[in-house]
Amino acid sequence: MPLARAPSILLQIFLLFALSGEKAVSSEDYPPIPHPELYEKIWADPAAALVPVQKLYKQGKAQQDTALQLDMLLLMAYGYDSLEKKEELSSTLSKGIELARKTGDRRNLAYFYLRKAYSLNKQGQRRKALELCNQAINIAHELEDNRLLAISLSDRGLILTEQGSEEAALEDLLAAHEIFEKHGDEENLSILYSHIGNVYFNLGQYDKAILFHQKSAESLSDEEFRNIAIVKLNIGAAYTLDKQYGKAEQFLGEARQIFEREKILDSLGLAEYWLGTLREGQKASREATEHYLRALSIFMDEQNVSMQFNCRTRLARLYLQLNDTTSARHQLNEAETLVSGMNNDTAMLTVTRIESRLAAANKDFEAAFNHCQRSTSLAEKIHAEASRSNLERLQVQFESAQKEAENALLREKNKVQKLQISSNQAQRNLALIIGVLILIILLFTFLGFLQQRRMHRKMAILAMSDELTGAANRRRIFQMAQETFNQSVRYKTPFSLAMVDLDHFKEINDRYGHEAGDETLKAFVRVAQQELRKQDAIGRMGGEEWLLIFPHTGAQDAANSIRRIAAAFRNTKVKGIPQDHPLTFSAGVTSYRQTDESLETMLRRADKVLYAAKNKGRDQVILAED
Ligand code: GH3
Ligand code: MG
Ligand code: MG
Repeated sequence: MPLARAPSILLQIFLLFALSGEKAVSSEDYPPIPHPELYEKIWADPAAALVPVQKLYKQGKAQQDTALQLDMLLLMAYGYDSLEKKEELSSTLSKGIELARKTGDRRNLAYFYLRKAYSLNKQGQRRKALELCNQAINIAHELEDNRLLAISLSDRGLILTEQGSEEAALEDLLAAHEIFEKHGDEENLSILYSHIGNVYFNLGQYDKAILFHQKSAESLSDEEFRNIAIVKLNIGAAYTLDKQYGKAEQFLGEARQIFEREKILDSLGLAEYWLGTLREGQKASREATEHYLRALSIFMDEQNVSMQFNCRTRLARLYLQLNDTTSARHQLNEAETLVSGMNNDTAMLTVTRIESRLAAANKDFEAAFNHCQRSTSLAEKIHAEASRSNLERLQVQFESAQKEAENALLREKNKVQKLQISSNQAQRNLALIIGVLILIILLFTFLGFLQQRRMHRKMAILAMSDELTGAANRRRIFQMAQETFNQSVRYKTPFSLAMVDLDHFKEINDRYGHEAGDETLKAFVRVAQQELRKQDAIGRMGGEEWLLIFPHTGAQDAANSIRRIAAAFRNTKVKGIPQDHPLTFSAGVTSYRQTDESLETMLRRADKVLYAAKNKGRDQVILAED
């Protein structure tokens, strides 16, 4: 009677979890660092510390003491890394990994993995670096070594931060934080506080950012006043963005004083920059420009190009507000020179947006409009790239979640084995528990997979459609046309396409405004989608130009379809446009011929007849002749 036994099995599952949660803190699950004095030395003065470390390594070799060799190799890796000796570092890491593998020293193997992850991350190989961190985390679980676990989690958190996965990073860093705190590991905590503060800052959670930066300041000793000043700068920046200007001023002022006294120029520039932002927030534009100008001159001395760019664009915006278009023009020109060498779309977008406002201030509305258009297409490009990298990121996260689920399963299995109960009845129950656990894990993995797929689809649709009208975008419609063309070549099926261009569209914009123009574009797509059959498609090639595709359709039928659209479009009411304003378009239609070598050939033909339709006075559909 399996049902009668069910409660006792569930009870056992609960006991299993309860037991694992209540483990006492012991030194065994938080092993100390071997050779702590050498460890400290290697951070403080790597070049000097490498001498005794290498000596001990040789000694370990002579005495065949592999533990000593591994400890020293690890210290050597830290040392070479700080001295930026890449070749020595990579050969030390390979030696360490090989020796740890050969002797089955899992703990040291994990520490070597983490070092390697760190150096791979520096070379931009994030995915591999993340994989190595995951392996270290697995080993930490397997050995139940909390120190290793916390260090691996915080390393993975840092890599995730650099990758822009702030939420996932925060999870890792907070988990590491909890372990370090539980074991009173002040040294590691102190480093972690400022990282967590920075992640909260990037996520816009300024109160939490301030809290962690304050903890970081408290953990520093008075001699470390330079670091304290940097923490103060961070706190001041967070208060600024949180609009708590009084406190911001106090922290930024204190930080600036120390940077000034100690001649730490780059940080001094940052302090001036944030003071500028602070004044800007207080609407004190004049003072803001003075801070930005001071920051700018420091960043020019320090050759910090990206901060120069930030200062100049901020200045340009402020001068515009102050109606000083000459100075705004000057700063913007300089910013453009800086950005031209960068290949950075986001920076370009900033410049283009200010250009458009500047043109508007100079009453050059045509230029303003053009800049506006340029910023829209830049924003679209940035958006598309962000979606793509988001997808990749999700994939990596999903894979590591899967791995963690597998490991959780393994760990639970191990625990179950450790409990080893003698009676047959109990063993049968354990098998059932494992079965239930497997089911739970499979369920979670499956749910994760479903969610991933949903996001995948959503992003794919976003990346493929035109933002304004919802029609297919240029990339998508050309892709569809190419697929239909390929089919026609293979199966000799008919296929027609049409190029459509709205007539005198510029006039609509000029007379009734850009918004009415936008409404017309939307109305055109709505009408076309109503008239088209399910297998047909419409996409925006750009501006007010469209590509329509008609699979399995001859030219005459396609042309009739377009004439129906024309009739419906003529009678459409569009917001902001008087009823008697004629809404027309011209179209060029052509169909696939067996002599057509490529889609290009068809497109060129359609374009030619569209041109002819325009020349014959517009508002007509012309078919390409055979
Ligand atoms: P024609 O009959 O020869 O096609 O004349 P036209 O005025 O339609 O053609 P032209 O190519 O001179 O003008 C197209 C205009 O479409 C120029 C541009 O300002 C405007 N435009 C392009 N994209 C958009 C948009 O997304 N929204 C609005 N409102 N206007 C746009
Ligand atoms: Mg046009
Ligand atoms: Mg036109």
